[in-house]
Amino acid sequence: MKAVYIEKHGTLDEIKFGNLEPPRCKPDEVLVKTAYCALNHLDIFVTAGWVGLKLEFPHVLGSDGCGEVVELGSEVKNIPINVGDMVTINPGTSCGKCDICLSGNHNFCTKFSIKGEFERGTFAEQFTVPAANVLKIPEGFPLDEAAAAPLSFLTAWRMLTTKAQIKTGDFVFIQGGSGGVSLCALQIANFFGATAIVSTSTEEKAQKLRESGADYVINYNEDPDYPKYVFKEITNRQGCDIVVDSVGAATFPTSLRMLKPGGRLVTCGATSGPIAKINLNMVFWNQLEILGSTMSNQREFREVMNLVFEGKLKPIIGKEFPLSEAKEAEKYLDSGNHFGKIVLKI
Ligand SMILES: [Zn+2]
Repeated sequence: MKAVYIEKHGTLDEIKFGNLEPPRCKPDEVLVKTAYCALNHLDIFVTAGWVGLKLEFPHVLGSDGCGEVVELGSEVKNIPINVGDMVTINPGTSCGKCDICLSGNHNFCTKFSIKGEFERGTFAEQFTVPAANVLKIPEGFPLDEAAAAPLSFLTAWRMLTTKAQIKTGDFVFIQGGSGGVSLCALQIANFFGATAIVSTSTEEKAQKLRESGADYVINYNEDPDYPKYVFKEITNRQGCDIVVDSVGAATFPTSLRMLKPGGRLVTCGATSGPIAKINLNMVFWNQLEILGSTMSNQREFREVMNLVFEGKLKPIIGKEFPLSEAKEAEKYLDSGNHFGKIVLKI
């Protein structure tokens, strides 16, 4: 089968397109014939590698993907999935058998992994995934959106609902508003009737963010002292209830500064670096909460995808490439010039 893979870590030029053996369906898995897959920053981090990441090469990249079920594993029974169904996936996999998985928190399982991270991914003509991770796509729903939605939306959903307890009327500040998870967080803030304030780097992106539902857009290049404006003008000297920050080192101290007493900072990543200097006086005096979040459990995945399927949340597709041009697609993602998800058509 055709696949996008790496044979060693390095720059994005290590990404290859060629023939690999198709995956074999394990007893608890289904085999999917891919229709679309979608890019995430994780692909770039995995290509570069990190200390402790030990992969079996050739390693197929890709976390998000959808397609047609072509085979059910021997132990896959009593689930509403059949051969021929079009499905999308929760990219977070686990053992499915331990006490933690059975309690509904599979993203805390010691075997928790993400497709394309510690295991072979979705950027191929076929991929396998545990049957517990697949969800049927309603007839007529666009397949590019079905592939693009899961990782970003389930991450943003858990961050804002389970973790930060978003409610109507909240002021929600989203750092780096045009990133995959941030665009989903913006839609979820709108869905709950919160006031969404987003930061971005260019006027072009600012305009697109306004069109995507942002109540306020901050261009941090033009206004580096934007926390004052947010505090005085937007929140009427209250501060924000929630800050969504997946930027990390570059923004973390500012994010904390913008919170009201009792406010919540929720983080799912650190694209600018993982080591941040923060003022602990501010944390305890204002009783701030710093909440980490990774992916979602199966319940949250289904909740958010049902809203996507109902059209209440809508994946924004930025650009489509053929699978054979995955390297160019990853370079485009890495350039930061994209807006919305980048998808690969098989
Ligand atoms: Zn488990």
